[in-house]
Amino acid sequence: MAGTGKNEEVLKESFMTKRSQNKRAFTHPNWKERWFVLSPENLIYYDGDKQSGRRKERGRVKLSEVVAVECVDTEVFHRDWVFQLCYSSEENEQIVLYIAAATSQERDQWLDHLRRLVAQNPCLSDHYHNGCIKGNQWTCCKGGKEVAACTRVTWTNNNPVGQPTPSPTPDARSEMMPQRKVVVALYDYNAIDPGDIPLRKHEEFEVIEDTQEYWWKMKNLQTGVEGFAPSNYVREKETIGLHQYDWYLGDATRQRAEVFLMQQEREGCFVVRNSTTNSGIYTLSLFSKRSHPQVKHYHIKKDSEGNYYLSHNIKCQTIPDLIFRHQHNPAGLPVRLRPPTHGRHAPTIPGPHPDKWEIDPNELNLLEELGSGQFGVVRHGKLRNLDVAVKMMKEGTMSENDFIEEAQVMTKLRHPNLVQLYGVCSMYRPIYIVTEYLKNGSLLNYLRSKDKVLINNNEVLLDMCLQVCEGMAYLERQKFIHRDLAARNCLVGAHGEIKVGDFGLARHVVDDEYTGSGGAKFPIKWAAPEVLNFMRFSSKSDVWAYGVLMWEVFSCGKMPYGKAKNTEVVEMVVQKGCVLDKPRFCPDNVYNVMRRCWDRTPEMRPAFNDIIRIFQDE
Ligand code: AMP
Repeated sequence: MAGTGKNEEVLKESFMTKRSQNKRAFTHPNWKERWFVLSPENLIYYDGDKQSGRRKERGRVKLSEVVAVECVDTEVFHRDWVFQLCYSSEENEQIVLYIAAATSQERDQWLDHLRRLVAQNPCLSDHYHNGCIKGNQWTCCKGGKEVAACTRVTWTNNNPVGQPTPSPTPDARSEMMPQRKVVVALYDYNAIDPGDIPLRKHEEFEVIEDTQEYWWKMKNLQTGVEGFAPSNYVREKETIGLHQYDWYLGDATRQRAEVFLMQQEREGCFVVRNSTTNSGIYTLSLFSKRSHPQVKHYHIKKDSEGNYYLSHNIKCQTIPDLIFRHQHNPAGLPVRLRPPTHGRHAPTIPGPHPDKWEIDPNELNLLEELGSGQFGVVRHGKLRNLDVAVKMMKEGTMSENDFIEEAQVMTKLRHPNLVQLYGVCSMYRPIYIVTEYLKNGSLLNYLRSKDKVLINNNEVLLDMCLQVCEGMAYLERQKFIHRDLAARNCLVGAHGEIKVGDFGLARHVVDDEYTGSGGAKFPIKWAAPEVLNFMRFSSKSDVWAYGVLMWEVFSCGKMPYGKAKNTEVVEMVVQKGCVLDKPRFCPDNVYNVMRRCWDRTPEMRPAFNDIIRIFQDE
């Protein structure tokens, strides 16, 4: 790898054209070719000299200061493949760097790399200008230089719950969406509400209104039919890149890819995903039954001319071309590639329509009972044609008003590893809580019923833990404390996806048996010492409970501390400082993670994000 002059790691580098950042308003902006180098901390650009390779640094942007990474309306510069990096200068001035890549694929790769590196920036913005300043006005919203950004970003890491996204000014709003935004459906969607339109994979739509984050009004470009559809089912055509292929799993981890391919069990079945260890590199995961069923992982390499290859016999300019060639010729791989028969699973529908968290019980069709828990009976149901679970809250178990208020915040929590809360029926008693339906029920029952298959199947068990951890890392980022994390409160979907449920409910319980650490229903075996001693809940007490959940997973649903009574557990944990023993087939490195979750000092426990990193390094 080439250096950046300061021994910085180089993640990506190429020639692109950069628009001059004319700080003085009257100089005419021009475009110059520069050699761009991306390191984990900076985007640096150099004077380009293709022949000699001699380069002088011309500027750099600190990635920690980046507020948006987005495309630009192509009409603005009469150039293709332009993208922008908005960042704050040391004087806190907002600066935009416009860069033109040579191809759409090149631009998508840069967008992808940059977004991954800035994803955790606290300063990320929800809006940007998709034009540029011309004659002291933004070309997109016609607002003056200082006017708030007018267009909602096409990509967000996540918007903190409870913090309203800055709205564009009324002037800007009236001018919004000047440019035609065309999206492509990634999944099929069957309309739920009368105002919805169905989506069929690969169909194209024009976005007519995207003011709601999760439900956009769209027009089918073939049929002209208009209506609402979930925004997480489509992707902007300009940035679709590999997402259009069923075999591309994006940021899926190695464990996820393995579980996905093992479920398909087809010789040669493969997926491509972003490497978890090397940013900007893709990995091919391939299932083969030769010798025994297993998944192998190969980095897709790039030669000095930018061609992709898995073996030196076949080199291609694009990854889809490379895949296509290997579908016909193994050329160094154990078998020919065969795309998965069932592609990626469609994401959760983001609940019925915006701000309709109060659900009319007449719209619910109640079906069979799924189980009963702490708060009452849970039934399968249909909300129009959407499968849902309906929790009928036993009267007197909840402080209802507080809960209803909180439900409004909870409907906004969205993550693939959290059970989606769709809304509540709070007009009548009992209150119903309506959530996403997960076919395989609670994780605890799932572990117990499948223990013979799962025990010692460490990749699958680790994947379960990782999924829970991702949901919890999201809650931690949203500053939301679960308070009752345990395998019984997680659910398993049709494709083995694990989701954390019942978050935040514990706070609203009024039952003394549940709320006091001396109560019979209090989850003592999952409680951290500071909870047992002082009822001090935090994300770090969730981490302790997560360690116990890992123990439940790796022991396939055994009861922590066996038959020990709650009082004995308190004595063991609080007074004697004991922790759970290693489950029989649990690898040492996994048990070490549990031990770190059970550090007596909350601050010494890893954060959920740290645990994800530890897993990925395994
Ligand atoms: P709970 O009250 O959350 O403990 O739920 C009691 C039981 O109902 C669980 O053990 C599950 O078997 C079932 N259940 C709860 N929520 C769902 C859901 N969203 N999808 C499917 N089954 C569920």
